[in-house]
Amino acid sequence: MAEAQTQERLTLKAQKDALRDGRIMGLECGACGERHFTPVVRCSKGHDALRVKEYAKEGRVVSYTIQVVAPEAFLNEVPFAWVVVDLDGGGPRVSGWVPFIAKPDELAIGQRVKFTPSYKPGMVFEKV
Ligand SMILES: [Zn+2]
Repeated sequence: MAEAQTQERLTLKAQKDALRDGRIMGLECGACGERHFTPVVRCSKGHDALRVKEYAKEGRVVSYTIQVVAPEAFLNEVPFAWVVVDLDGGGPRVSGWVPFIAKPDELAIGQRVKFTPSYKPGMVFEKV
């Protein structure tokens, strides 16, 4: 007997509203478990059994670059570190930024960080 497949939708607006409330929402495939932060209609294996999932707020920095010249939305924030974070509990990886980082010795690969809701653009993370 085939399992009933359901697909839930996550709009960019709903995701953005959740971020303002401090929740990181995405989609998880009910067939293979693949997780996505960016809304998709199918996972990379072609399954469409996607469910809305709330992800962990903490994770580890897996890569970063220090920004000293920034796009307009970040003009008042430089310098900062643009980071890729592997969220706890199986991901996914998301990108965001850590304020007040000016030199490479101020942030390490593997640093624990926590998502912090903010009125500022993007996803702000703080060291924990
Ligand atoms: Zn899948």
